[in-house]
Amino acid sequence: MAESQLQELRGQVDRLNLQLLELLNQRAKVVEEISKVQAQMGTGFYDPQREADMLTQLEMANNGPFSNETIKALFREIFRASLAMQEKDARAKILVQRKSPDQATVITMPDGVTKIGDGSFTYLTGSCAIESYEQMDQVAQALHKHGVKLMRGMAYKPRTSPYDYQGMGEEGLKIARSVADKYGMYVVSEIMDKSQIDMFADYVDIFWVGARNMQNSFLLKALGKIKQPVILKNGIASTLEEFLYGAEYIVSSGNPNVILITRGIRTFEKWTRNTLDLGAIAVLKLESHLPVIVDISHSAGRRDIAIPMAKAALASGADGLMVEVHPNPPVAMSDAKQQLDLKQFDTLMDTLKKMKI
Ligand code: PEP
Ligand code: MN
Repeated sequence: MAESQLQELRGQVDRLNLQLLELLNQRAKVVEEISKVQAQMGTGFYDPQREADMLTQLEMANNGPFSNETIKALFREIFRASLAMQEKDARAKILVQRKSPDQATVITMPDGVTKIGDGSFTYLTGSCAIESYEQMDQVAQALHKHGVKLMRGMAYKPRTSPYDYQGMGEEGLKIARSVADKYGMYVVSEIMDKSQIDMFADYVDIFWVGARNMQNSFLLKALGKIKQPVILKNGIASTLEEFLYGAEYIVSSGNPNVILITRGIRTFEKWTRNTLDLGAIAVLKLESHLPVIVDISHSAGRRDIAIPMAKAALASGADGLMVEVHPNPPVAMSDAKQQLDLKQFDTLMDTLKKMKI
């Protein structure tokens, strides 16, 4: 008798479970509708006041036997799950967000052979600033010897102080172009403003957006309209989310060929210029399908630790390395403390080539 009564009661619980399941999913569908309206309105998903109001309503309506505390705990779980679903759906719409483990943006340069993000390790090296033809030629020769295809050299320098060297301007880009052509390399150089786009297109193969412009949405949107790839640095004090939204501006404006480059983050440490955030590299690779390059020059601010930093970059799962090289670093017009001389660059390249990851 007791046995059959138990069976019957368990049957009731099973039916109630199914009803609850149905209601929970019905509720989730309404939450999805709410997400759409919130997206139209441009408001966030989480509204603490709304949550508090719903809990009060439930408390008032609760006739037991569950206590108010238990009811509130159960509903908080439902709210948490709903918010997680809303955030997951929102992330899925972000173009730079990785959708599957094997998704990868591969950038193919015009020669059809030079690729970034294809699983190879890319070297993007060269001087901090373009200073003269002779300097660029010497550096390019050293890079060419190691098979480097992407040569950096800045003609516009966004210096912290307006009294510091500001770069050679268009004359510098002409030098970079002719030297790169001589050695069969590509020019990577920093653009400061969208008014420079047409002029840059005459000389530059990859447009570089520096840390100070990472959130310049007008520039980023304009770079979404060009056909050349864009390399984007993390800002001076930006979070990874802000960094990826910077990239999203370019991609959502029509240019899928974006490379991320990280300069580390500002911390309290003084013995390095910035702190190379290895976790950031791993997270960027996990969260996004864009290639990630590690800038070991600006993250360290010193050349004497370049080799261990470069080894860490190679082992980190990044797609490449950026290091500054100058024929005579102590007299360089910018970043004299961190640029490698040609011999140090040789040693760095020889050391990395021997490493197998
Ligand atoms: C650079 O790479 O030379 C440069 C200016 O870097 P950042 O934007 O990180 O200052
Ligand atoms: Mn520099």
